[in-house]
Parts: sequence; C-alpha cells; structure tokens
Amino acid sequence: MKALIKYIVPYQITVSLRQALQSIQSIFYRGKDFKCPFCGGQFRKFLEGGENLPFFKENKIIGGGRRVNMLCPRCHSTDRDRLIYCYLTSDELFNKSNLNLLHIAPEPSLKNFLSRLHNISYTSGDKFEKGYNGFYYSKDTLPLDLTSLSFSDNSFDVVICNHVLEHIQDEGKALSEIFRVLKPGGWAIIQVPIASEALQTIENKADTEELREQKYGQRDHVRLYGLDYPSRLKDHGFMVEIWSPDYQLNNNLIKTYALNELEKVFIASKVINS
Ligand SMILES: [Zn+2]
Repeated sequence: MKALIKYIVPYQITVSLRQALQSIQSIFYRGKDFKCPFCGGQFRKFLEGGENLPFFKENKIIGGGRRVNMLCPRCHSTDRDRLIYCYLTSDELFNKSNLNLLHIAPEPSLKNFLSRLHNISYTSGDKFEKGYNGFYYSKDTLPLDLTSLSFSDNSFDVVICNHVLEHIQDEGKALSEIFRVLKPGGWAIIQVPIASEALQTIENKADTEELREQKYGQRDHVRLYGLDYPSRLKDHGFMVEIWSPDYQLNNNLIKTYALNELEKVFIASKVINS
C-alpha cells in the first residue's frame, strides 16, 4: 500500500503532508519538560516508539525495544539520533574544516543537521531494500551496499552507521568496507542494539523470520550483539573508544533530550601505525 501511495503521490507532496501532520502533533504535545536539539521544539512529552516485544526487556537490550519518550513530535528525531547529536557537538568536529562525511541509512534529523554544516561535505546512502524505502529518505540518498561500497579507499573523515550492522549478514565485509573508505585517522560511529548481560554475540541460530524474531528480537535482525561488540570492531582493525552519556553529560540534559543514559556511543577509528 505504501509503495502504491508513493507511486501515485509526488514525493514533495508526501513530504509537505508529513510536515503538516508533525506540526499539528508538535502543538498538541508542546510543553516544557522535553526539548529536541534538532528542531528546538519544547514538549510535555515525546512520542512513544520502538518494538514492544517482551524479548527486549528479557534480554535487557540497550538501544532497542519500546521507549516511552522516543520520537520528537515535530521532527521525528529519535533518542538514538539525539545521543549522536550530543556526541558530535561535544567533539572537535565543528572546529575542523572540510570533513568528508558518509551517513549510512540516514536518519532525517541527523541528515538535516549534518548536511547544513558548512565544514561538512555530506554524502548519504542506503541499500533501499524492500520494506525500508517508504517515504523515509530524501531523493539525494545514494543507492549503496555497505558490503561493497563504490567509494575509493581513504575517502571519508567520518562515517555514521547507526543501527545497521544488526541487519547485515556479512558483518565482516561491512566493517572492512567502512575501514577501507575511511581516511587514516578517520573515525566511524557504529551503533547497534546490545544485550547488556550477554557476554557473547549470538548469531547463526536462525534462518527464518520467525526464528530471527525469537533469537534476535526482530525479523530483520541477523544477530544479537553482546558485550563482545567492541572486540568485534577491533578484530577489523579499528581502535575503539566508548563515549557514555551518563559520564559525559549532566543529568538534566539527559532527561531533557530523553536519552537512554545506558546507551553508549561506539567510536571506531582507523589508526594506521607508521
Ligand atoms: Zn525535533
């Protein structure tokens, strides 16, 4: 149905309709308790969102499942987008010039923010797999396959890949490709949902959608990451730093932006020893 509507209704009209709906939502939810750093809106609450399956609670998954204050009513930024915003604005990113940035499966709020920064040369892309290409992406989003990128070696200073790896069967190839297209000294934010009490990542246990939902929590997830996640990044050559909002940000900001203080930002750097 979504595909049919997309075919019939011009893209710009769907964007305008969505924006009008979100404007109405933002009036209904306006208040003082929450603030969105992307659109500047202030609200009495954000919108609830995320999968509402017992699996997420049972496995104590951070970065997934139902969240009470997940979506900004006005711009539809998520708690995960706002977390990355906090990391980026705390980094030296703004002080550097001409950063080449690749944004995989671009979230609109982050895309609007990043693509307007004068020091960022912004590229975004997605595989446009069935079921993911509704009205979500703007027209300038390139078709790309993270396991086989068309970019030259050493092309980007920064890659943002937010909750994508858990959907990709060949994780090793995807990580190798991110490493390859990063310039020496470049870094990537690579986020995944993590079962906070699982020592090891679980994979190769399910080959149907039903089994994947049972084992990994979602029909389109191909593994359930555990606490070994940073070492999986290191295995592909990255140096890994972990940025924790509960350590780096004050409690008021965490509450105002409705962040999950337990969700950490994983920064994977391409450090070449000479
Ligand atoms: Zn917003």
